[in-house]
Amino acid sequence: RVVVVGSANVDLVVDVPRHPGGGETILGGDLRRSPGGKGANQAVAAARAGGADTSFVGALGRDESGELLLASLDRAGVRTDLVERVEAPTGTALITVSPDGENAIVVAPGANSHVRIGAAQADRLAAADVVLAQLEIPLDVVLAAAAARRPGAVLALNAAPSRDLPDEMWAALDLLVVNEHEALDLAGGPADPAGTASPDPVERLAAVLLERVPAVVVTLGGAGCLVAQRGAAPVRVPAPRVDAVDTTGAGDTFCGVLAAALAGGSTLVDAARTASFAGALAVTRPGAQDAVPTADEVTTFAHP
Ligand code: ADP
Repeated sequence: RVVVVGSANVDLVVDVPRHPGGGETILGGDLRRSPGGKGANQAVAAARAGGADTSFVGALGRDESGELLLASLDRAGVRTDLVERVEAPTGTALITVSPDGENAIVVAPGANSHVRIGAAQADRLAAADVVLAQLEIPLDVVLAAAAARRPGAVLALNAAPSRDLPDEMWAALDLLVVNEHEALDLAGGPADPAGTASPDPVERLAAVLLERVPAVVVTLGGAGCLVAQRGAAPVRVPAPRVDAVDTTGAGDTFCGVLAAALAGGSTLVDAARTASFAGALAVTRPGAQDAVPTADEVTTFAHP
């Protein structure tokens, strides 16, 4: 069982010839409106990965965007009984996508500021094998979710968007999943710790993070990811070569599929291999939740 605690946003997406700078106006393509938000995306990815019973703990406004998100979560087979409807607009992300598939994003949190861990949410968390959270909701909620899980359940944090984490958060974490920028932020800059002879800057970063958390996965876009665990040699997992159309949701697909594989009993390295194929497929399609592949699609892609 997987419980994803996090944000749900409606994504307002415009293709642009390039991202605007400060004070600049740019004409883009037609507006697209699609279900997103790191939490909801990751829940959809975990559910579509198959096998895992996936619940989403989040908050939506009583508006049309909230309906759009509920429909998307339902379609993917996510359990939505713990999603609360609140008196704030559904979270909204303003996204521009440049021709190389790179995106720039501003989030208005809205309802996401009102996510809470009540008795029902705590019960579901206590029955989870993997609890997966991100940082688009208040940190207190992530801490409350961590406290509600049973001993032995894995708490995985996708530390995005990155921010400083208190000691209490580090102490609760079993697994950190970050991209290279987030890894740099959390490690406090390029790392050169004593005792790590690795010439690879990503391995050095991971070594710094391993001082605070037992396992780290650093995702590296088209270069795949690095899996680092205390007491084991770091493992590079390559990503298959694909034509990037829209990188929105690649990291979320990766995290959700990783969590589902872990809940299914996979080792972290095997889970990262499956997640890497799923993340690569997601960048070949537009949208966030709409781009998440099914388990069958991932299997066919990995073993053609
Ligand atoms: P984020 O979106 O959080 O920055 P990444 O860009 O590192 O995360 O992507 C997450 C995962 O998705 C990667 O580890 C990889 O498996 C896959 N992925 C992302 N971009 C590409 C790409 N251009 N080609 C192939 N796989 C990709």
